Amino acid sequence: MIVANNIKKIKSILKIQKTANQVIGFVPTMGSLHKGHLSLVKMAKSKSDFVVVSIFVNPIQFSQGEDYQNYPKNIKTDINLLKEEGVDLIFCPHPRDMYPIDFSVFVDETELSEVLCGKSRSGHFRGVCTVLVKLFNIILPDKVYFGQKDYQQALIVKRLIDNLNYDIRMYYLPTIRDKDKLAMSSRNRYLKDNERLDSLCINEALSLGRKLIQQGETRVFVIVDKMKNVIIKKRTAKIVYIEILDAINLKNLKIVKGKILIALAVYINGTRLIDNTVINVK
Ligand code: AMP
Repeated sequence: MIVANNIKKIKSILKIQKTANQVIGFVPTMGSLHKGHLSLVKMAKSKSDFVVVSIFVNPIQFSQGEDYQNYPKNIKTDINLLKEEGVDLIFCPHPRDMYPIDFSVFVDETELSEVLCGKSRSGHFRGVCTVLVKLFNIILPDKVYFGQKDYQQALIVKRLIDNLNYDIRMYYLPTIRDKDKLAMSSRNRYLKDNERLDSLCINEALSLGRKLIQQGETRVFVIVDKMKNVIIKKRTAKIVYIEILDAINLKNLKIVKGKILIALAVYINGTRLIDNTVINVK
């Protein structure tokens, strides 16, 4: 396994793989890896000849006051985990190489980014799209792997691949949860024991939303209100958003119908957690 941070070196390694007709699978991450990331890596291993994982905490997708400086970093453990999975190449660039002093070109998605996390984290998806275009141009992947945990991001990445004519096949994999059903996230490491218990309200709220819909409730405001009541009972929880949207285009709905997304972002003390579920409603 090669670990490299130099962009020129990575490009030359991948050029050789491309010339040898190897199918390049790529999993972008911000590191501090858990089983959710590893599920993407395992799928990449099974579907490609040469697997690249990037570990890069992307400064430009964090707004001011967010946790960029404190974002958990476990590079040694990450490297060992990826070695066990049989990853071929780890790319961990320096921010100053990705964003040199004269960096002034950004990539904006202007529709799907307007809602949910895009509304509450100004500039977030601009940062995500920009770094992905850079990573795609450096690595030239044939296949890329993303998680449903970040549903809105996955939808935006699909749009980016289509709109910018990348010949990349995107795989989109289910959210991996801990035993207590909390969606795995690098940020879960911030949680103290009592906060971890409180954070279970996130999945409880999603389960309630699903149950209400199964029982025939169709009014979005009723479902959202009842979900909110689950969250506000927890002392450390603060809702950023709970929304039910059309899962294809992220447009608002009054009545649940078709493929719908229930998505929420909640602060547990200072830790911002997101989760979602997608349901096909007849
Ligand atoms: P991150 O390191 O948080 O930027 O995530 C890198 C990739 O891992 C993204 O495609 C995420 O959607 C995916 N991911 C993060 N958490 C999970 C999870 N619990 N289950 C599945 N995929 C995940």
